[in-house]
Parts: sequence; C-alpha cells; structure tokens
Amino acid sequence: MSGKKLQKKLTHEWKNAWEVMDEKETEKAFQIGDEYRDFLDAGKTEREAALEVIRMAKENGYVSLDEIIEKKTEITPGMKIYANYKDKSVALFVVGEEKLEKGMHIIGSHLDAPRIDLKQFPLYEDSGLALCKTHYYGGIKKYQWVTLPLALHGVVIKENGEKLNIVIGEDENDPVFFITDLLPHLAKDQMAKKMGEGITGEGLNLLVGNIPYKDDEISDKVKLNVLNILYQKYGIKEEDFTSAEFEIVPAGKSKDVGFDRSMVGGYGQDDRVGVFTSLKAILDVEKPKKTAVALFVDKEEIGSVGNASMQSKFFENTVSELVNLTEENYSELLVKRAMANSWVLSADTLGSFDPNYPEVLDKQNAPFLGKGVTVLKYTGSRGKGGSNDANSEYISFIRKDLNDNDVVWQMGELGKVDQGGGGTIAYILANYGMEVVDCGVGLLNVHAPYEIASKADVYMTYKGYNAFYEA
Ligand code: MN
Ligand code: MN
Repeated sequence: MSGKKLQKKLTHEWKNAWEVMDEKETEKAFQIGDEYRDFLDAGKTEREAALEVIRMAKENGYVSLDEIIEKKTEITPGMKIYANYKDKSVALFVVGEEKLEKGMHIIGSHLDAPRIDLKQFPLYEDSGLALCKTHYYGGIKKYQWVTLPLALHGVVIKENGEKLNIVIGEDENDPVFFITDLLPHLAKDQMAKKMGEGITGEGLNLLVGNIPYKDDEISDKVKLNVLNILYQKYGIKEEDFTSAEFEIVPAGKSKDVGFDRSMVGGYGQDDRVGVFTSLKAILDVEKPKKTAVALFVDKEEIGSVGNASMQSKFFENTVSELVNLTEENYSELLVKRAMANSWVLSADTLGSFDPNYPEVLDKQNAPFLGKGVTVLKYTGSRGKGGSNDANSEYISFIRKDLNDNDVVWQMGELGKVDQGGGGTIAYILANYGMEVVDCGVGLLNVHAPYEIASKADVYMTYKGYNAFYEA
C-alpha cells in the first residue's frame, strides 16, 4: 500500500464545516445565524433570557408545570412542559415514551454572562458628575469595559412592592452610560502598570449625569437631579436601589462579522449560544423515547452557587414533581434512578484557537472556529483539577451519534496544560451518577463585551444537540 493511501486510512483530520456543508445547508446555517442574533438581542440578562426561553416554549405548546400540578393534568408521552424557577432558571421537558426512571436526555447550559452590576447603594456625586459604584459579576478583564457605550438592564422592587423592569440604552433614542478611561497624554503611570491592575474594580464607576438641580442652598445637586429624573419617570427613591438588580451590559445589538458575514459578534454568547442551540434543538423534539430536557441555569459565572444555580435543588425537585405526577406510588428511589440513568451534554463555550495568541493553546488539541461543535472530555486546571472527566464509553456513544448524523465536530481542550483553565456545570450533574460530557461552541474573545462565534459552529451545535435528543 502506498504511504498516501495508508495515511488516508489511518490518520484523522478534523473537517471544516464550511467546506462540508452544501449550498442548502449553508443557507440554513446563515438563517439560524440570524435567529441566533435575534435571540442574543432579546435576552441580555439572565432574567431576560429566561423569559425569552419561556416565551418561545409557550409559543411551541409548552405548558407550565405549576399549572399541571394545580389542575392535576395527566402526563402523557409527547407532552411539553416548562418549569420556571424565580425567572432566572428554566427547565423544558418533552415527556418520553419510557418511564422517567429509565433516565433522561439532558442538555444543560447557563443563562448568565459576565457583566457589571450596580452596587446596592450606588449613586454619588464627585466634581460635578453623577456616578454609580459597581461590582463586576464573573470573570472580566476590567480594561475591556471602559470607554464603551453601556446599557442598564434590571428590576427594581419599590417600597410599595411594585416590580419594575427597566432597560435604558438599547433603543436608538435612549441615552447610554460610560465608564471613563484616562487620556494617553496623562497615562504614563497607568500604562506602566500590569494589565490586570491598570483599571481597578473600585475604579469601574458608571457616568450617569452632569446637570445640577437648581437650588443654591444644597450640595450634591447633580446627584439630586438624577434622583429627580428617576423619581419623575419611575417613582424610584434612593433606598429603592437596595432592592434592585441593575446589570450593566454593552449597549446595542449583535452584528455579523467579516466580509463573508460568517461570524456573529455580540454580548453574552457565553453561554447564550448554548442556551439558543439547545432551545432550538428541543423545540424540534416531538415524541422522544427518553424524556428530553433542556436545562437553563443561572449563576454559572460565579461558581454555580445560589438558589437559581445548578447546585441548587431546583432541577432535582422538578424531576421529583414529574415522578410524582407520572407514578402511582412516589418514591425517592425513582427520582434517584431517573437522575442516575440520565445522559447529559453540558452545553458551554470554550476558547477557540486565536492566531493572535498561539502561545496559550496546544494547536493539536484546540478547537478552531468553523470546525463544528466541540466535545471536551475534561475542563479544569492544573492536572484536570475540578473537572468532570467523561469516560470513553460515553464519549464513544456521542462520537458515533455525531458521525452517524453528519455533524461536523472536533475534540477540544481549554488551553495548554498549566496555562489556566475553567469549569462548567458538568461535574454537578455528574454527581448524580449521570453520564456527562462538555459539548459546545468555541468562541473568540470569551468573556469580553463582544464575543465572536462562527455561524457554522452554531449550526453544527444545534444539529449535534438534535442528534443527541433523537438518539
Ligand atoms: Mn460558560
Ligand atoms: Mn464563562
């Protein structure tokens, strides 16, 4: 046998999805890219994204679990159910032909993204400017967030209990906000600092006003004028900030990127790309053998802690409710079996190979933009620390499923050994005994105000998730 023939037979090269897709499929990838951008623009906070998921689910015939419990509706295969947890986490179910105790097919993603939150007592005045103190959320590189037009999204519960949703900075005619940076002419000392120290956490103060309230008798007139505007428009007083969740995100919509429009640039793609692709995939599911689940959780970016996170009992409790509704005799053992027999794709993002920074990734094991959905056996750092290390048996099943369904996929790893690392919700679900593997979209600019994804990868991820639900 010639070396060329033998090479073809024995070696493997990951394919480029753009080269594999025919005209029809390419068109579909672009169409889904447009839908994806709309989804990103509709949900720029975990609350907005959760409500958008529920809106789309209801449009596709999903019924609220609370309603089913209340009306004691009988649960039958093919039934579509959603559970809303505090408007911050959501689970979608399509009831399978098999009993729950046989296990579910779950795709789990997170709705939160790195951002900057207002502190609970934020407003102050300094040197004729009104500003808001902030505390960032998740892992950001602080220098990326200065001199950008920023929008404010959030909720405030007023003293009388009234709940207001407020968005300022997204409409064409809205004002925006900024965090300022030093002019280069005077930045000699700043520029000599390490990048991580040039902009400080306490220095991320949001510029919100400049006009003083007209009264010579008082101080802090600019702050008062801002408070007066908020009071006139929303009826908010300063103390109301204490019971508010105001999130600062980049203002404006996502964009196509490149002369060939092959990529999407936009805020919050980690992990709303996982949310969108798994949502779209489960909305295609009609009568699965195993119950199909799409799980969308909050607080991943700060370690999956808190009552709307993956570590909370939300999902387990919801499955218990379903077992209770479908079985004559409820038992905790049935819940345990349902969990332990489940298979999971943890839909999260990772950093793709960036030719500007080749030194941090092992080119042989890094994901590349355009080469499809990425499967990660493990995440973690310093010797796989803290990672869910998926077993070969499960990966072999996923590999076959992707190949059988013509999904372009690649194997990936988050960076060079000892270069850093990270985690996902994978290990938390694995604690139940579920089979779990990370499987998602590689991005450029991860955690930056604008992240970049390839439309081919978004499409192949959706296609791969579909294959998983159908398996
Ligand atoms: Mn993530
Ligand atoms: Mn992240």
